Amino acid sequence: MTAERPARRFPLALGRLGGATPAKAKSPAPRSGDAGPAMSRPQRHVATAHADAGRRAAAVGLGLDSADVRARMVERLRGEGVTHPLVLAAFAAVPRHLFVDPGLAAQAYEDTSLPIGHGQTISKPSVVARMLELLCGGARAGEAGNLGAVLEIGTGCGYQAALLCRLGKRVVSVERLRALHDRARELLAPMRDSRLRLVFDDGMRGHPPGAPYDSIIAAAGGREIPQAWLDQLAVGGRLVSPVQQAGAGQVLVVVDRHADRYTRTVHEAVKFVPLKSGLAG
Ligand code: SAH
Repeated sequence: MTAERPARRFPLALGRLGGATPAKAKSPAPRSGDAGPAMSRPQRHVATAHADAGRRAAAVGLGLDSADVRARMVERLRGEGVTHPLVLAAFAAVPRHLFVDPGLAAQAYEDTSLPIGHGQTISKPSVVARMLELLCGGARAGEAGNLGAVLEIGTGCGYQAALLCRLGKRVVSVERLRALHDRARELLAPMRDSRLRLVFDDGMRGHPPGAPYDSIIAAAGGREIPQAWLDQLAVGGRLVSPVQQAGAGQVLVVVDRHADRYTRTVHEAVKFVPLKSGLAG
C-alpha cells in the first residue's frame, strides 16, 4: 500500500468553523420541496433551536468545546500514522461533536463511526483522515498545495465537507437524502462560505456544472466507480472511493487521471454505507 504524503504547502484554505463555540446555525433559505414532511418551517426552526441548545449544553457540560479535546484526537491520529500537517490541522479545527446528535456528543472524539440518522453514519476519524491524506497525494493537489476543486459524494452530516473546506479551493458536496442535505445545510451555515456548495442530487452522476474536479472523494461505496466521476476528474486529479469487491468486502480505491489514461490502486479494506442511486425525501 502506498500513500504519498506531500507534507507541504497546504494553506489553511478556508472555513470559519474552527472556533470553540461557532455561531448558531443560520436558518437556511426557503427551498422548494424541503424535507421534514410533517413539519412546517416555523416548527422546523423550533426543532432546530432545541437541537442546537441541546448540542451546546452537551458540549459545555462535557467540555467538548475545548480545543484540547480535538488536540487529543489529533494526537491519536498522529499515533496511528496520519502525518499530513494540514489534514491534522483540519481535524484540530472542526468541532466534530456539533455534527452528531447531542446524545452521542460524548463519543464524538473517539475513533468510532456514529449514526447520523436515516440509516447513515459519520465515518470514524481515522478513516476520514486516511482518505484525505490519500487525496492530498494527487498530482494536482501536490503541485497546487491544496485539493483545488473538490467533489464529495455523500454529504451526510457535513463533517467531512467542513474538513474539505480547509483543504480545497471550492467544495461541491452532493447528498441524495433530502433530510440529511437539509440538516447539513443548517450545520454548515456558520461557515458562511460561498466556496462550499451543497447539492441535493444523486451523486452517481457527479455534479457536471462544477467539473472538472481536482479531487473527488466518496463516502459511500458501490460495485464500480461511476463513469461520471471518472469523466469529471481533471487530468492530474485524484479520486478516492470505497468500492465493493465481488464476493468480498469493500476496499479503498484510488484513481489518478493522467493525460492519456487512468491508473488505479487498491488499498485497505473499509466499511462504508452503500452508494445508492436515485433521490429520497
Ligand atoms: N461524509 C459524510 C459521511 C456520510 S455517510 C459525513 O461526514 O457525515 C455516506 C452518505 O452518502 C450518506 O449520507 C448517504 O445518503 C450518501 N449517499 C449514498 N449514495 C449516494 C448518492 N448516490 N449520491 C449522494 N449521496 C449518496
